[in-house]
Amino acid sequence: MFLAGSAAIVLGTCSSTSSDGAATTPPVSTEPPDTDPATTTPSTDATMPPTLTDAPTTEPMVTAVASPETPSPPGLTTDPFTLGVASGDPDTTSVILWTRLAPDPLRGGGMPDEDVLVAWELAASDTFATLLAAGTATATTDHAHSVHVTATPPAGADADAELFYRFRVGDFTSPVGRTRIAPTSAVASASFVSASCQNYEDGFYTAHRDIADQQLDFVVWLGDYIYEGASQEIGAAGAVRSHGTPEPKDLAGYRDRYALYKLDEHLRAAHQSCPWFVIWDDHEVENNYAATTPQDPAETDGFVARRQAAYQAWWEHQPVRLDPPAAAGEYRIYRAIQWGDLIGMSLLDTRQYRTDQACGDITFSLDPPCAETFDDDRTLTGTEQEQWLFDTIGKQGTVWNVIGQQVVMADISLNGAILNYDQWDGYPKNRERILRHLADNAVPNAIVLSGDIHLAGVAVLRAGAAIGGADGTPVAVEFVDTSISSGGLVPPETADLVKSFKEIVDVELAHRGYTMHTVTPSTWTATYRIVEDALIADSTVSTYGRFIVDAGTAAARIG
Ligand code: FE
Ligand code: CA
Repeated sequence: MFLAGSAAIVLGTCSSTSSDGAATTPPVSTEPPDTDPATTTPSTDATMPPTLTDAPTTEPMVTAVASPETPSPPGLTTDPFTLGVASGDPDTTSVILWTRLAPDPLRGGGMPDEDVLVAWELAASDTFATLLAAGTATATTDHAHSVHVTATPPAGADADAELFYRFRVGDFTSPVGRTRIAPTSAVASASFVSASCQNYEDGFYTAHRDIADQQLDFVVWLGDYIYEGASQEIGAAGAVRSHGTPEPKDLAGYRDRYALYKLDEHLRAAHQSCPWFVIWDDHEVENNYAATTPQDPAETDGFVARRQAAYQAWWEHQPVRLDPPAAAGEYRIYRAIQWGDLIGMSLLDTRQYRTDQACGDITFSLDPPCAETFDDDRTLTGTEQEQWLFDTIGKQGTVWNVIGQQVVMADISLNGAILNYDQWDGYPKNRERILRHLADNAVPNAIVLSGDIHLAGVAVLRAGAAIGGADGTPVAVEFVDTSISSGGLVPPETADLVKSFKEIVDVELAHRGYTMHTVTPSTWTATYRIVEDALIADSTVSTYGRFIVDAGTAAARIG
């Protein structure tokens, strides 16, 4: 099944061993190249070709990495790579490569009802003249013919080098993705984007075109990758595009919704441009759901099964280093990531474990908060995740210590009234415990990244602050990214009022876009990129402003 016709020669190291590095597999090994355990084909057909030349262990040796061939599955006559490729969750040894075979993407994928072998290749250039690793993975019917490969460059390869990958099945070859693994050593500079909220109907993905142009180290996606809303006619309620299908409530519905979003060329380009770290917010399931409580009490029956379907479809469509969700129960996605000695980041899940929103989840009410808001046991993170965060944040030995999460943490209360109970304002005791932890443990250079609210904002978070009360002590800077395309929620004419809130440094309410972070050991620079008009395809993108945090301070200055 495997032909060496397209074998390439690469430098390896005879002494190097790797549990999953295909290129470092010993000569004439019968071990299959490692891929995700859930998708690996346990077949000796996956044996890597033998080394062409042996050499003393002290010298670099030449290893051949052959391009695997795959049979053309019956009935596959059109391009199955309509949804593009993606990579994600790089660590210091490997990166996850993703694709999903879907020749008929908007109608269940259109694949034959059988598992299909997919070849993958990791290379040092986009010509694929030099393969660093290669293998096969099985795209299963159970997981919508998605593929999650753990790709490991050889141990001797340059850990900071650009990597390129692609997939093949039968006669079809995927687009090429650019990726990398995480650095191990001192990092002088890193650049990444935080982004969220891409309602397909509300606007075009011009911001993703701009992200793709940036040649970043990585993207952190903070949620609302899909919106579960029903389909609107183009022109109705401001829709510039139409979902075209009813509100998804089962696995088939969520899969088709992900496929629609991934058919956007700019979103595919942003994925192909660099690895992503992906977490979810509410719309991957349903607006403002809380744990197993749906927004609409009338939808309670069947909501757990609906959430399960949504979680599975999320896994099937994201390049995450996670096992697929089990058939029932909780599904942990919160995790820590690291970029050398520069950035440690705790990625949270503030939806799955939260207490239901207080006070009926009313927004923009000027009434005083109801008493339950201040209950000690109200939680956005859940007890276990909160403890995990305390065990993780500031313990990675990095200059900057980041919490990447979904909803705004800054106090945006107005004269003691909570304007949005879905955010951290609605969970003040949980928030105070976290900010107090940062202060009490002197966690250095704490940064919070948020999305959800479709505005660009900068805030200084304070421990010991109270809604409508004490000012507290600055402990962290929060950067809120505006939405990629989802419509604004806070009227632009209220900008001066919002800027007057005690923790707010600046807001920009009128534009869509994202935040680019350029990080060095001495400064964190957040550049707010905004799309002139997301209702027009391929509008222009410009910089709204830059905000700089100097290491050792919990303050943001205009750059
Ligand atoms: Fe959103
Ligand atoms: Ca949201």
